[in-house]
Amino acid sequence: MKFTPYSEKLMNPKWKRKKTKILKRDDCTCQHCGDTESLQVHHRYYRDDTEPWDYPDTVLITLCADCHRVESDLPRGIRALMGLAYSVYGREF
Ligand SMILES: [Zn+2]
Repeated sequence: MKFTPYSEKLMNPKWKRKKTKILKRDDCTCQHCGDTESLQVHHRYYRDDTEPWDYPDTVLITLCADCHRVESDLPRGIRALMGLAYSVYGREF
């Protein structure tokens, strides 16, 4: 299987479509601080076997760049635990 860098995956039209949908759902507003600029769509967790656009919408959230940075700084172990919690308690799994 060819390895595709994550940054390249985010150029994929499937991700762009998903991202637009999430931004619209969240009213183009950061769900943490209410900012409406430099918005990004954040994955609450990552799984090695899942493409960025294949996650349920509930896993994705609109954040501004600042809030996104804070979220992304969470240690990997915590994110792995969150992924586990979602797969146990999440409705869409
Ligand atoms: Zn924010």
